[in-house]
Amino acid sequence: MPQRKVRERSWVEIDLSAFRANLQALKRFLRPGQGFIQIVKADAYGHGAGEISRVAISEGAAALGVANLEEGKLLRIQGCKEIIIILSPSLPDEIPGILEYGLQPTLADPAFARKLDSMAAERGVSCQAQLKFDSGMHRSGALEEEFGELWNLCRKLKNVDVTGVFSHFAAGENDLDFSQRQERKFSSILKKYGIDLPFTHLANSAALVNGLGQSANYARLGILSYGVYTHPSQREKIALKPVMTFKSTVSQLKNLPKGAPVGYNLTWIAPRKTRCAIVPVGYADGYDFLLSNRGAVSLHGILCPVIGKVSMDMLCVDVSAVPEAKLGDEVILLGGSCDELRVEIISALYGGSPYELLCQVGRRAKRFYYESGRLVTSAPLARRDFVSSDFSDSKLNTIIQSAIAQRVESEELGELISREILRQFFYNKDREIHYRRNFVHHIRFAESGIEGYWRAFTTLSFDKILAGDFFIVACANSENTLKTYFKRRDVEYRWLMDDNFHLDSESFRLSSVRVNGCKLETAVHFQGGCMEIRCSHPDLKDFVGKEVSFHIDTETLYPKNSHQLSVFVTELTQGVKIGFSHPASLAGIECVTVFSGQNKYPRLIRSATSITVSTKAGEWVFPQSGVVFAY
Ligand SMILES: *Cc1c(COP(=O)(O)O)cnc(C)c1O
Repeated sequence: MPQRKVRERSWVEIDLSAFRANLQALKRFLRPGQGFIQIVKADAYGHGAGEISRVAISEGAAALGVANLEEGKLLRIQGCKEIIIILSPSLPDEIPGILEYGLQPTLADPAFARKLDSMAAERGVSCQAQLKFDSGMHRSGALEEEFGELWNLCRKLKNVDVTGVFSHFAAGENDLDFSQRQERKFSSILKKYGIDLPFTHLANSAALVNGLGQSANYARLGILSYGVYTHPSQREKIALKPVMTFKSTVSQLKNLPKGAPVGYNLTWIAPRKTRCAIVPVGYADGYDFLLSNRGAVSLHGILCPVIGKVSMDMLCVDVSAVPEAKLGDEVILLGGSCDELRVEIISALYGGSPYELLCQVGRRAKRFYYESGRLVTSAPLARRDFVSSDFSDSKLNTIIQSAIAQRVESEELGELISREILRQFFYNKDREIHYRRNFVHHIRFAESGIEGYWRAFTTLSFDKILAGDFFIVACANSENTLKTYFKRRDVEYRWLMDDNFHLDSESFRLSSVRVNGCKLETAVHFQGGCMEIRCSHPDLKDFVGKEVSFHIDTETLYPKNSHQLSVFVTELTQGVKIGFSHPASLAGIECVTVFSGQNKYPRLIRSATSITVSTKAGEWVFPQSGVVFAY
């Protein structure tokens, strides 16, 4: 795995290519025509159910297996559209969620099955489900003597569609004899009731590798796909790569004299002068307490023993064998290419379960996903509270939209608000929101000497971060044409011309364009019914990324019979002043302001020949705010 700049105290790397390779190796044990179901319960044994499911599906998984409603729901929220089977018995209270998210629960109890049917009927939906047969493990599932009743009931339920029957091995990794008895029982029950369903499944990953479960049409793959062996005999049959690597860094180094005790209750005493490293990971991070004085970590490729008791947030390591060790060095706690750090080896050190160790690892650690050695994505550590900086922009957009939808209790409105109202602020711009400040737009009408037209002098000024070394002023005589210029970020000013006019530099004249006082060069060209004036200057490139003052003055003609003039703010703007000066002959002008933002009611000042509409300098005004002057 590639080196990366570490900024975490501890982190988990997930090698999706290793996972893919494990799946490919496991698939060779499937009989022809047999498929597999990927088990992703407990967040894919701590690997991250979303990413693991994605790869498993691309490797041909027919369905995903989770433990409960919550896990299935999370996958659905992450966009998973595949078949999701809930393996553990569900509770009656979970039925509404199961129906809402289209999950397949496991049925073993007739009362639960009836309840599922009636609740599905109430909602006018049908629910797919699978039956669990207890072939001898005596955990969940219907016993042989109960199965007939369950099957006969479920196949008659109108709103429950049974898609499968399955069972589970109690000792698929080490008791072939017992497993074969289970398998015979499973086959005989299918035969007895003439069951021919899309899904029959029996083997877990260890059983598959032992040649079990071939009578079913699917196998359920779990721990072996994550590169962890559950029995030594498996090593000869299949090569598996650990998918998860749990890492941390050296956070302190010290020399201890011979005889110095280490950690709580002084359980380790230095037998000699010892170089000791502190690793900022403890049992609260999922490094098991029982690894006290037993575990080992890898530093510079050398195995270093854990000394003293593992604390809640730290552990001590004897690094005397690595004199070159320094602060910030990477420490491998579990997994990776070092055989001694395999989860099954480490958990065996304290008689623990490799399944448990996988699930508990990295409770504080961010996960980084690699594919073919390249970092593809990362997932924040699970927090109780929402911290927005944990998430990518695209994830944040999804979160904002779903939060609004929940708040207004409507998916449709949530989508609308986030798309139409919020998106222009941040959706495509990703943090680079360039807003305007001190926006002053003044329009003055004067007699033009041309029948039916005012001469309009406009002056516009505002401050804004300069995005590029040029910008466009656009003038069109069709609203539709001009519309496209509202979407473009390189356009700073747009003017709608009366359609009686031929568009040219006579009818619309850019009298002066300045940025920070520097007079820009202008070049006019015509583009699809629009006059584009490109404003540029060689010096502008020095200002890119800095806030500058724009000044744009124009001179044009305005039809007298239009009887109205509107000025709108097109961007998020702080501080707006819009003025209109007119000949005294234009009396009784009506002024309608439509403002949204911090203040809906801008200040209005009128005189015999002018109207000014303004907000306070610091006040935010949202796009589409503006004024209509009617004369
Ligand atoms: C967890 C689980 C599996 C996966 O077992 P592995 O030993 O991890 O391969 C299969 N089936 C059921 C019902 C399970 O709960």
